[in-house]
Order: sequence, then structure tokens, then C-alpha cells
Amino acid sequence: MQIVKSFTVDLTEVRGRGDVKCPRCGARISPDDKTEDTYAILEAIMEGENLEKIAIQCNKCKSQIHLTGFHILNSVQDGHTLSSY
Ligand SMILES: [Zn+2]
Repeated sequence: MQIVKSFTVDLTEVRGRGDVKCPRCGARISPDDKTEDTYAILEAIMEGENLEKIAIQCNKCKSQIHLTGFHILNSVQDGHTLSSY
């Protein structure tokens, strides 16, 4: 049996537009990527109306990656939406 490694990535520590690299194989995982070629979403955990955590699996190396820190991303996106309209 293959042992599945799991990692936690805090988005508050990720610079840029929220793109994440797989801690194991370095595959680029973008929240904007809806194709799921690079990763598959396993589970999304909500805290009230806000996204608390997403568990994803890297399709390259099959690692599980837990993304946290979405409250920062949400506030950034809100500001972006306001300035674009
Ligand atoms: Zn990977």
C-alpha cells in the first residue's frame, strides 16, 4: 500500500495571488484552476459563511494538502471586487 503524505499550507504565509506549490513535488496549485488537472478537491470545510479549510490531493504525487488561512484570501478578494466595479 502506498503511504499518503499530508501537508498543511497556510495561505497567510503564501505571497502573491494565492497560488500554492505542492510541498512534496512542487506542482503549481492555483485556486483559480478549475480544471483539476493538477489537483482534486477532497473536502471543503466551512466556518459559518467563510471557507475555513480545503483538503486537496495533488494529482502528480498524490499528497494530501490542507489549505488554511482563507480569511485573508477572502478579504483580499473583497477589496479586489470593490475596486474593479
Ligand atoms: Zn505533489
